[in-house]
Amino acid sequence: MISGFSDRHSTRAAVVGLLPSPNPRHGCLKLRVDFGAGGAQMFDCQVRPRRDARHLRLRVRSADALLLTCPLRTSRRQMIAFIEQHVDWIQTQVATVSKPLSALAWLRKNPSLNAHGKSLEVRFFTAARRPEARHRFVDEGRAIALFAGVNASARVGPRETVEVQRSLREFAKEVLAARVYFQAERLDLENMPTRITVRDQRSRWGSCASSGALSLNWRLVLLPPELADYVILHELAHLRELNHSSRFWALLERYDPQRKAHEGALNALSERLMSVGRNDAG
Ligand SMILES: [Zn+2]
Repeated sequence: MISGFSDRHSTRAAVVGLLPSPNPRHGCLKLRVDFGAGGAQMFDCQVRPRRDARHLRLRVRSADALLLTCPLRTSRRQMIAFIEQHVDWIQTQVATVSKPLSALAWLRKNPSLNAHGKSLEVRFFTAARRPEARHRFVDEGRAIALFAGVNASARVGPRETVEVQRSLREFAKEVLAARVYFQAERLDLENMPTRITVRDQRSRWGSCASSGALSLNWRLVLLPPELADYVILHELAHLRELNHSSRFWALLERYDPQRKAHEGALNALSERLMSVGRNDAG
């Protein structure tokens, strides 16, 4: 049963429009769902009122479509309250039904990358010839332009998937290494990493070897800056404590006082982000 709607100002889910529905007895809502650190996403939500339904039931039909079954006289507000209670569940379900996106497709939906602790807007550029640098900071450092291929028409289409993936990997190599050294210096660390590599790991954000070599996932640049920093600080803490002992967590908490919140936000995003660019060649 659903009762109590005191949280009228909650904004985790909101109806932003109505859509034509194939069945006139059913409604279709355009919903905006806020996943917190995971960003906001739009969904088409089919509403199916049923005489025999005693409770509200929600299904995730695809990466951007929901189905809500409800008793006949369910108010719009009751529907939204129900959806708001299930925002975290929706996020998990969306991650499992979503197909892997190429890096280019991901950036078109989420046009931002982090560098030097800031979130930058992403743009693409094409050129008649391959440029020496595949990326450049533009708009006084507020945006990043990625090379998307040799193309006279300057249109970025699906053929550019591979070029964008390469540009992104090169960008990640540069900015992630710079950020590791920035954080190591900020913390005045005695042990510096002996080597930093940026790779295409399937499920790990980063790792630290006993030799002091750090290995980071290129997808870190897709995260909000504070979460990328969390991973970097986590690996830097391993330079002193190569384990997950209580001493390690205490040290990491000194490096990142918000480490618990950051860890939770990272876990919520990981599954979805780890599939980005999975099938891109190059
Ligand atoms: Zn660890």
